[in-house]
Amino acid sequence: MHIGVDMTKCKSYAQCCFLAPDTFEFDGEEALVYDPAPDDTHRLRILQAAAACPVQAIRIDHRDLEADASPAPATGTPGSLTATDRVVVVGASLAGLRTAEALRREGFTGRLVVIGAESHEPYDRPPLSKQVLTGTTSAGDTTLPRTRDVDAEWRLGVAATGLDLDAHEVVLAGGERVGFDRLVIATGSSARPWPDAEQAALEGVHTLRTADDAAGLRRHLQDRPRRVLVVGGGFTGSEVASVCRTLDLPVTLIDRGPAPLTGGLGEAVGAVAAEIQREHGVDLRSRTSVTALEGDADGRLRRARLSDGSTLEVDVAVIALGAVRNVGWLVEAGLDADERGVTVDAQCRALDRDGQVVPHVFVAGDVARFPHPILDGGLLSVEHWGNAVAQAEVVAHNLVTGGTAEHDAVPVFWSIQFGHVLKAVGVPSCADESVVAQGSLESRSFVVVYGARGRTVGAVALDQSKWLDHYARQIAAGAPFPPRDRTVHGPPNLTTVSAGARPTASVQ
Ligand SMILES: Cc1cc2nc3c(=O)[nH]c(=O)nc-3n(C[C@H](O)[C@H](O)[C@H](O)COP(=O)(O)OP(=O)(O)OC[C@H]3O[C@@H](n4cnc5c(N)ncnc54)[C@H](O)[C@@H]3O)c2cc1C
Ligand code: SF4
Repeated sequence: MHIGVDMTKCKSYAQCCFLAPDTFEFDGEEALVYDPAPDDTHRLRILQAAAACPVQAIRIDHRDLEADASPAPATGTPGSLTATDRVVVVGASLAGLRTAEALRREGFTGRLVVIGAESHEPYDRPPLSKQVLTGTTSAGDTTLPRTRDVDAEWRLGVAATGLDLDAHEVVLAGGERVGFDRLVIATGSSARPWPDAEQAALEGVHTLRTADDAAGLRRHLQDRPRRVLVVGGGFTGSEVASVCRTLDLPVTLIDRGPAPLTGGLGEAVGAVAAEIQREHGVDLRSRTSVTALEGDADGRLRRARLSDGSTLEVDVAVIALGAVRNVGWLVEAGLDADERGVTVDAQCRALDRDGQVVPHVFVAGDVARFPHPILDGGLLSVEHWGNAVAQAEVVAHNLVTGGTAEHDAVPVFWSIQFGHVLKAVGVPSCADESVVAQGSLESRSFVVVYGARGRTVGAVALDQSKWLDHYARQIAAGAPFPPRDRTVHGPPNLTTVSAGARPTASVQ
């Protein structure tokens, strides 16, 4: 079977763990981990768990359901798209698949082509830095569950290398041209590589973005390296360090900032993250950087040189320095695209270099750079699972109906590390102040709320997920900061903590 849990919805109510304990379990108090490809013998229990989940967060591939629950095929195409039109989606991952599914659900009956550089069918990336590295599941078993048959022509294992907007054609590696009436760009991002190509090529040096990356890293972790070096203390680096400690591997995390996660969530939450890492045995070195990676005569990684003059003996290094948007194939296309993504309007339509809407080209997922009300229309790009899903829905709706729906969903992000679930809503990185509104930093169970210009713009919860929908609504409504709602402690109990700017969402 193939299943997935929408962790942006999951509130850790644990119904699934009670009903299907072989598939769902908690790591710590609230961090749900699950097997994305459970054995068919657990089917009945999984169906019961999905039905019981109070927020309907569990998604089961429609081919695994007794009666195919996918909506009946649409009989006609409403709106601006006609049944003879051809839609091409470039990027066969989360945003691409969800767009294709939503196009069919919205009633598009024309030709649908999905082009993907990877040869795998669309798979889920969050488990790659969690269940796959611990060995709970394999890299090949994170296939995204599908809600319906999308009836698409899948062109997998071939990259788009160019876009000819005048001719309405995508150019593929090898020169073939694929014509379209509407194009959806969903090419996501790639791991930022280690800057020295020779050092990056040493055996044992990894980045983590694809299923193949995860499989390779897992193999090296199974060889029980003397020490793992993680370069970068963002979400991916911290999750990898967490996995290393779960596997009882010595790990050093090197980060330039004052503490892990500080760039995204501020110094107060970063300080808690640092304490948790150290308590779990991570050799955390903040305000430090790696100056060189060195190998032996056989090209295997052996040591790292650090900015403080010291050296570390390591066999595995994980480069976790963030992501770069996959826009290389669009260089000549005339779109407003650079390493921050492809700029779109609120309706997810691409803009050209003059800022004009290109009405037949839409963009979804990590590769999009979009205006957001939290930033008063300033441009935001995020690398969030929930954003890819939400944006795909808007793109498909506007494509099929010719509608003008706007993508203004409040961003939601989660991370699971060291037995804790950390969730964020809004854009904490644009805050200039923050307060602890629930729990306390000391107890490692809290909600920190972030404000900018007197408005609530973000909230971060550690093992307190249940509060976040409330804050997401506050953020969407532009509620004042500090929070005055009667459902939270009144102002006298709010503890001011330092806010810090950061970058899982880059703000312009
Ligand atoms: C290890 C890891 C852990 C994560 N954990 C979390 C988490 O805990 N919580 C969370 O909210 N988010 C998490 N994310 C982020 C989340 O997975 C992404 O936001 C999501 O995958 C974005 O989907 P996407 O479809 O926009 O882009 P991607 O998933 O990057 O997919 C883009 C696809 O396009 C393909 N492509 C690129 N260029 C071309 C081309 N020229 N031609 C054809 N195809 C092309 C790529 O090969 C890729 O398959 C994680 C990501 C990673 C890598
Ligand atoms: S909210 Fe749903 S998916 Fe999350 S723990 Fe509860 S039952 Fe499981």
